[in-house]
Amino acid sequence: MISLRKVPLSGDDLTDWHFKEVVALLRKNNVLVERRKRVMDPDRWRRRALRGLMQPGIGSGGHGIKITISSAKRMNPNRDAEVVTLIHEASHAIRGKPWEYRIRGLESILARRFTKKQKDFIKKHFLPRHETK
Ligand SMILES: [Zn+2]
Repeated sequence: MISLRKVPLSGDDLTDWHFKEVVALLRKNNVLVERRKRVMDPDRWRRRALRGLMQPGIGSGGHGIKITISSAKRMNPNRDAEVVTLIHEASHAIRGKPWEYRIRGLESILARRFTKKQKDFIKKHFLPRHETK
């Protein structure tokens, strides 16, 4: 398991606290991250494509969390965008499912505050290269 003592730091206490929170969530073995060409909103009767999705309560025992990141270019143009989406979905997993706009607000702050090294760390360790069919 990735040690929280060995993660890259920004030097800003609050930013690094949030960064470690995201890493602590993503390194859990009940958290699964997948990339798929199409990610559809399961809550809507009108099937809508999403850039990412966080699903709690899955697997045996219902303690699993599945995060799915869209690999479609129009949803996430590149892997850097996928990392930002992963930060967004991890924030949903950490904070329950509060209003979308609050998570978007947090996402945009964290995407600015996390250093390139921190975002590359998330990319390298938690964003799969392959797509799940
Ligand atoms: Zn969201």
